[in-house]
Amino acid sequence: MPHVITQSCCSDGSCVYACPVNCIHPSPDEPGFATAEMLYIDPDACVDCGACVSACPVGAIAPDSKLTDNQLPFIELNAGFYPKREGKLPPTSKLAPVLPAPMVSPRPGGPLRVAIVGSGPAAMYAADELLTQRGVRVNIFEKLPTPYGLVRAGVAPDHQSTKRVTRLFDRVSEHTGFTAFLNVEVGKHLSHADLLEHHHAVLYAVGAPNDRRLDIAGMGLPGSATATEVVAWFNGHPDFADLPVDLGHDRVVIIGNGNVALDVARILTSDPDALARTDIADHALAALRASKVQEVVIAARRGPKFSAFTLPELIGLTSTCDVVLDATDHQRVIADLATVEDRLTRNKLEILTKLGDASAPITRPRIRLAYQLTPQRLLGDERITGVGFADGGTLDAGMVLTSIGYRGKAIADLPFDDVAAVVPNDGGRVLDTAGAYVAGWIKRGPTGFIGTNKSCAAETVRNLVEDYNRGQLGDPAHKPAALDKLVRSRQPAVVDAVGWRAIDAAEIARGGGQRPRDKFVDIADMLAAAATAPRPPAYKRLLAGLHR
Ligand code: NAP
Repeated sequence: MPHVITQSCCSDGSCVYACPVNCIHPSPDEPGFATAEMLYIDPDACVDCGACVSACPVGAIAPDSKLTDNQLPFIELNAGFYPKREGKLPPTSKLAPVLPAPMVSPRPGGPLRVAIVGSGPAAMYAADELLTQRGVRVNIFEKLPTPYGLVRAGVAPDHQSTKRVTRLFDRVSEHTGFTAFLNVEVGKHLSHADLLEHHHAVLYAVGAPNDRRLDIAGMGLPGSATATEVVAWFNGHPDFADLPVDLGHDRVVIIGNGNVALDVARILTSDPDALARTDIADHALAALRASKVQEVVIAARRGPKFSAFTLPELIGLTSTCDVVLDATDHQRVIADLATVEDRLTRNKLEILTKLGDASAPITRPRIRLAYQLTPQRLLGDERITGVGFADGGTLDAGMVLTSIGYRGKAIADLPFDDVAAVVPNDGGRVLDTAGAYVAGWIKRGPTGFIGTNKSCAAETVRNLVEDYNRGQLGDPAHKPAALDKLVRSRQPAVVDAVGWRAIDAAEIARGGGQRPRDKFVDIADMLAAAATAPRPPAYKRLLAGLHR
């Protein structure tokens, strides 16, 4: 009964280190780790101990006998990563190598203090890594009153298992060395220089908040938007609650075929009753209940073998939605299969060969994967009526969404590489800027999965601690307790971890047991919920401040 890793694999590698026989690969020290679509358990070496199940933060691992029908393809997918051998491998007792974290050397000026800007996965994994060291203090600064970045506002609401990683982040936030300053914007309420006056180092884990834009005629007309805006809309991000999403027509076209395109297509074609059991925003659920959309076309500019979506996500999509190809694209898939040797790409192509034909009548909202369509212009005068492609073909559509990737944004007082849209860095050390570090998408670009940020953040933290130990980081000018005063003087509506827990509890209560939570989308509502948090008596707050 070997264990199997399934679709929601976050690739953070926790399972690798928990495994007593080193049967999960690629491991973070192996070359393929950074680009792997997921991790795989070797069924011949697995000893069925279940240690990986407890270590996995997103519940992606189960014994092969406990998989749902939709998860069965993952048995072959895990096994296929390893060469075929005869029988069970002899048991070993070899743990995967753990990359050593340098120990913080104590200094007379007090413990290492690090400001982390952002509270998404890269920020929380960096905090976790720093807080493994005795005495270290981590202060997190987040623009919204709610933490966890793209886990809250980017992961699709029907992927609740992936969102379970927030339980790990909640545990990190309970550490005594951790303080959250939510609803505080660095660049508006506080500057980089302010943060450096109160910390030895500032680590930016701000992600890639912009979209890559497609520069073709018609972009910007009503009915055009980006897929990531729609993701933020259905996830209840306060800045996107009013996005005009008009679903009163037959077809939506999405340009680009990465995992974001798949997420949006799936949500737009899902049964609203099923979505009503998720944490989808109320406004999005209402719009989807009234939707007239019958088909979402995912249009890629290249052929099937270059599909940007990952195999686990394709397996998930085809097992839950009606997905079709037209006859020409079926031919393209078969032609690619005849030439491609790479195992993962062949697996994707084999799934595509089994898809239904687009000529069949539409009986429920469906997704069509389409290839060799380079967008040239959006059609329509007052609003979008379709999209024109370079081959002269057109597709009617009431809404066109570009889904061609995220893009990093420049940070005040730090250098910026405008081509790669990242902060130039060496292993997380920002070039030519003492005391500044980066982790996550602003460090390496917008690729990978939630857990990819664990090893990325660990590398940055290793370098930061090394610099601190070598005496390269100046001591903060102020005592730790002065920070709280400064933040409150600049942003009286700051929300702390206790306030966030009150928001969290209120959202869960609003879900009424039928849904994981019913999200607030209005910042004023979030702040009102935070204000109901039980507060310790003033003398205890004073003591806590003195001990910080
Ligand atoms: P992505 O995977 O980089 O895909 C971008 C798509 O846009 C590709 O199909 C690309 O086609 C196309 N494209 C780029 N420029 C174009 C242009 N000028 N015209 C037409 N098409 C163009 O981006 P993403 O979907 O935004 O995903 C970002 C990252 O988040 C990925 O690592 C993804 O795996 C991850 N993610 C994961 C999940 C999940 O695991 N469930 C969910 C969401 C996102 P070409 O290949 O031809 O350039």
